[in-house]
Amino acid sequence: MMSPGQYLRLRRMAGDFVYLSDLVDALLRLPERRVPVRPAGWTYLQLVERLARAESNDLPLEELHLALLGRVIALDTKIYRALLALLDDPDASPPRICWVCGCSDHDACHTAGGTCAWASANLCTACQPLTITARVHLLDWPDAPLPEGDRP
Ligand SMILES: [Zn+2]
Ligand SMILES: [Zn+2]
Repeated sequence: MMSPGQYLRLRRMAGDFVYLSDLVDALLRLPERRVPVRPAGWTYLQLVERLARAESNDLPLEELHLALLGRVIALDTKIYRALLALLDDPDASPPRICWVCGCSDHDACHTAGGTCAWASANLCTACQPLTITARVHLLDWPDAPLPEGDRP
C-alpha cells in the first residue's frame, strides 16, 4: 500500500526534484509565495522540515500547501486525500497509482509518445522500461510491488 508520504515523494522525484531543498527553492520562486507558502516567521529550513514531515507521514499537508505544490510538481490532490483516508480506513479501495512515478488517471505522464497508459495494475507505460532511478526508489521502498519478471 502506498502511503500519502510515499506518494508525495514519488511525485517530487518524478518532477526531478532530487532534494527537498530543490523543491523549496522552486516554491519560493512562485509569484504568490508571499501569501501561503511561507507562513510568517518560517525559515527556509522549517519549510524543508515541513515537507519532510509530510513525506514521512508525520504531518499531512494542508490544502493550501497542496495547491501550491501542485504548481511546481504534478500531483493529484484527490489521490493524496484518498491515501490519507486509507490510513483511517484500510478497507477503502485504494486509488490506482504507478508505483514508480506516482502518476494516476488524472495526472498522467507526458512522454514523447503522448500521455502514458496502464502497462499493468500499478505500472504506467512511461515507467515500463525500468530506469536506474526507479530501482533507486525501490531501495527505499522494499515492499513496493514488482512487476512480473522483474524481481531482483
Ligand atoms: Zn509511471
Ligand atoms: Zn505515467
